[in-house]
Amino acid sequence: MDVISASTLSSYANGSYYVKIACAHCRIKRFYDPVDLVQLCGNISVRRIARQFRCEQCNKKDYLTADLVSPPSKELVGMNVRRLVQIRIIRKPVWKDVKL
Ligand SMILES: [Zn+2]
Repeated sequence: MDVISASTLSSYANGSYYVKIACAHCRIKRFYDPVDLVQLCGNISVRRIARQFRCEQCNKKDYLTADLVSPPSKELVGMNVRRLVQIRIIRKPVWKDVKL
């Protein structure tokens, strides 16, 4: 475990870091702003982020990795970052059968 991945998300929510989440199975990678991830997952350590996600392509968690990246400014031009628009709370009924 290196020093960077041991630190928590909020230390990197300053606009120069992004979290790259990649699925080794689908070979898809997406970049997220740490600010959004703090909102969603709380201020957890970077190495715990992957467990909070599921690949949208294969619907599996097993192949996901999360890495902190700090791209040089010329690479930031045109880079796609997936921003959080909304956190939707889904109401899910929980039932149990009772004897009368
Ligand atoms: Zn996948």
